[in-house]
Amino acid sequence: MNEFDLIRRYFTRPVPPGYLGAGDDCALLPVAPGKQLATSTDLLIEGRHFLPDADPASLGHKALAVNISDLAAMGAEPLGCMLGLSLPKVDEAWLAAFADAFHELAHEAGCPLVGGDTTRSPDGIVISVTVFGQIEQGRALLRSAARPDDDIWVTGTLGAPHAALQWLTRQWPAQPALLAAARPALERPVPPWRFAQRLPGLAHAALDISDGLLQDLGHILKASGCGAILYYHQLPIDSVLEPLDESLVREAVLSGGDVYQLCFTAAPRNREAIAELARAFDVRATRIGVIESGAHLKVHDAAGRPIPISSRGFDHFA
Ligand code: ADP
Ligand code: MG
Repeated sequence: MNEFDLIRRYFTRPVPPGYLGAGDDCALLPVAPGKQLATSTDLLIEGRHFLPDADPASLGHKALAVNISDLAAMGAEPLGCMLGLSLPKVDEAWLAAFADAFHELAHEAGCPLVGGDTTRSPDGIVISVTVFGQIEQGRALLRSAARPDDDIWVTGTLGAPHAALQWLTRQWPAQPALLAAARPALERPVPPWRFAQRLPGLAHAALDISDGLLQDLGHILKASGCGAILYYHQLPIDSVLEPLDESLVREAVLSGGDVYQLCFTAAPRNREAIAELARAFDVRATRIGVIESGAHLKVHDAAGRPIPISSRGFDHFA
């Protein structure tokens, strides 16, 4: 199979009206008047971001999901995506599984694949996805927009992807039943992109949690020049972590990455509107803390006592 057959068979699908997809020198996407284009790229490299034996369907899903998560973090509506793919060899079963899962999520999110580039690479698979989205001029949710007294919210649950990764890489003692329950959170993240498009106007700052709650919230605090208190007992800890030791649970929920859910801040007067929005989109949204003036990040237990934080990435708060 040559390069062009491969692209046609696996990566060319009909695109919606108003689009020009693969086949010309550029793709064309419809951007509505008065909107800004939002775009983001992520690179996934075999051996660094995924193991050589990773399930191709999970990879196809996740390669796009982590990018849609970036659009959601800005409050942008998905418009389309591009796929750069470097392969050591043409493995049709791998390509079919990868492409099906990729297109399935693209279809569901209204983010059609409109082009890309395909090459051979001797040293393993490289996947680069670029997404495009649109958002009303000036309405994007920036990391710098948090204000003192804002509530801090998080969507979904915390900890399951980290736990799955620890079990898969044998950093934690084997727990096959728990791994099976936690694995979808690691391999098939589903960012809340529909809910996120309705947040501009209700929320101030937002980002998606990729490196861990404390680390990522730290980015909002730094960009906004604020501090924060998190209430540990209010965190939406994934139920798969229930049987684990408290120290492992803390590590997973406070520092665990690969979450691809949102952390955002909003004025207290919007509490009910946000809760209602979450119900309407079947998203779990939990208030977990408060933004304060200052530059601290503290985690409190149910009695209001500080929990010591030992994780990396917090030097600028030291
Ligand atoms: P060019 O010579 O202009 O770089 P290519 O020959 O690389 O174009 O690609 C031909 C067409 O196929 C282009 O429209 C390109 O966007 C599309 N394409 C190439 N690789 C992919 C891919 N992995 N996924 C989707 N479209 C692709
Ligand atoms: Mg090319």
